[in-house]
Amino acid sequence: MSLPRPLVVILGATGCGKSRLALELGRRFTGEIVSADSMQEGGICSAIDRSVGSRTSSPNRKEELEKLDCQELYKRLAEVDPAMAEKLHPHDKRKVARSLQVYEEVGVPHSKLLLQQCQEEGGGPLGGALRFPRPCILWLHADLPVLDKRLDLRVDNMLAAGLLEELNGFHTLYNQQKIAENSQDYQHGVFQSIGFKEFHEYLTSNNSCSETREKLLTQGIAALKQVTKRYARKQNKWVRNRFLKRPGPNVPPVYGLDVTDVSQWDEGVLQPAVRILESFLKGEEPAVQPLTMEYDQYEGKRNRRVCELCDKIILGDREWKAHLKSKNHQYHLKRKKKAETHFSTQSSPDTSENIPQDS
Ligand SMILES: [Zn+2]
Repeated sequence: MSLPRPLVVILGATGCGKSRLALELGRRFTGEIVSADSMQEGGICSAIDRSVGSRTSSPNRKEELEKLDCQELYKRLAEVDPAMAEKLHPHDKRKVARSLQVYEEVGVPHSKLLLQQCQEEGGGPLGGALRFPRPCILWLHADLPVLDKRLDLRVDNMLAAGLLEELNGFHTLYNQQKIAENSQDYQHGVFQSIGFKEFHEYLTSNNSCSETREKLLTQGIAALKQVTKRYARKQNKWVRNRFLKRPGPNVPPVYGLDVTDVSQWDEGVLQPAVRILESFLKGEEPAVQPLTMEYDQYEGKRNRRVCELCDKIILGDREWKAHLKSKNHQYHLKRKKKAETHFSTQSSPDTSENIPQDS
């Protein structure tokens, strides 16, 4: 009797290389990949990638779907997943097709899948995923300063690829009238798409002088970068809260992979992931330890801990002790204490800014 093929879940903040790893593993193990990104462009919420599934792969299905006309696609989605259809614009073929594909392949409406993943409270971690007997969960994790740089670059690339033009066109077509009625709603539907809120003032400043427009654009870019970075922190927090803080019989182990140095991708990310997955396929325990939170009591040089304060994975007990004494950790500790005192008198401080480089 052969073992059931495991569900592989790849978690990680935006810009950590989830898709890259999913593709590489999918290719190597001839699996099927299902991406369940959030509403925000580029999968800001944690993605669940069903890299290795038992169903036959249908790599061309998305292309097939995209050949249908917008109306037909949208109609089909509205039938199987009205909640998702509500959120998507009928002309956004790529997303409509993807949601339809997720429904066809997973058998669960895409909107439901996203809800399970994105809800901070309520429901089990990755509800659907846990119905699989032994999910192999990999968490891609980069040091924050490095991730921040990557996220900034990502925003710059999106701008270079025509994000503003896209937003502008969309804005002109669908928002003008609502602006006139002063009823634009950025909290729902398509307006959750990345950039809309942040560039609202810029997009509606056509009658201002070029200097003002330039300023609004700069502000929009800064806001988008800020929001992206804040989201990445939220994603990591979600993983910590969901998987690492509540160890128990129903919470599967999570294997951490450090993606800080992309030049070490093969040795540091791909190969360890392959070894972990091979162990899963053989029904064996992987040689590497899953992640534990800082209070874990096992001693050893291969223990991996997550410092919640610094949002960083530390390998080894000695390294952990050194980390607790490090400048960086002390900085965060001080900042947290300050924030707590501040919190008791004022509103919530933003702890996501001005994080120093690791030394
Ligand atoms: Zn720390």
